[in-house]
Amino acid sequence: MIDLPKCPKCNSEYTYEDRGLFVCPECAHEWSLDIETENSEAEKVVKDANGNILQNGDSVTVLKDLKVKGSPFSVKKGAKVKNIRLIDGDHNIGCKIDGFGAMELKSEFVKKI
Ligand SMILES: [Zn+2]
Repeated sequence: MIDLPKCPKCNSEYTYEDRGLFVCPECAHEWSLDIETENSEAEKVVKDANGNILQNGDSVTVLKDLKVKGSPFSVKKGAKVKNIRLIDGDHNIGCKIDGFGAMELKSEFVKKI
């Protein structure tokens, strides 16, 4: 048996449980115990090519040449990217690369330094 909680309204001890609700016979208050469902605000985990977890502000290197939309150049394999930012989407890393400006990368193509 678990101890039944006292009535939150009148503090009566004579509460009982009925179909998942607690009921107070003295003031007729009914309530449920909110079992804190872990409303997984769990932050999405972004991992690099090696499975290391990436965080905002990390520095990474690019593992392969990446074409840059709207630019005749590509980001070269081995390029260092500082101060990444995790974002939502298909490309899950936002960053700035010297000479290219703001870019988005896929975490599977980078490695944490
Ligand atoms: Zn009560």
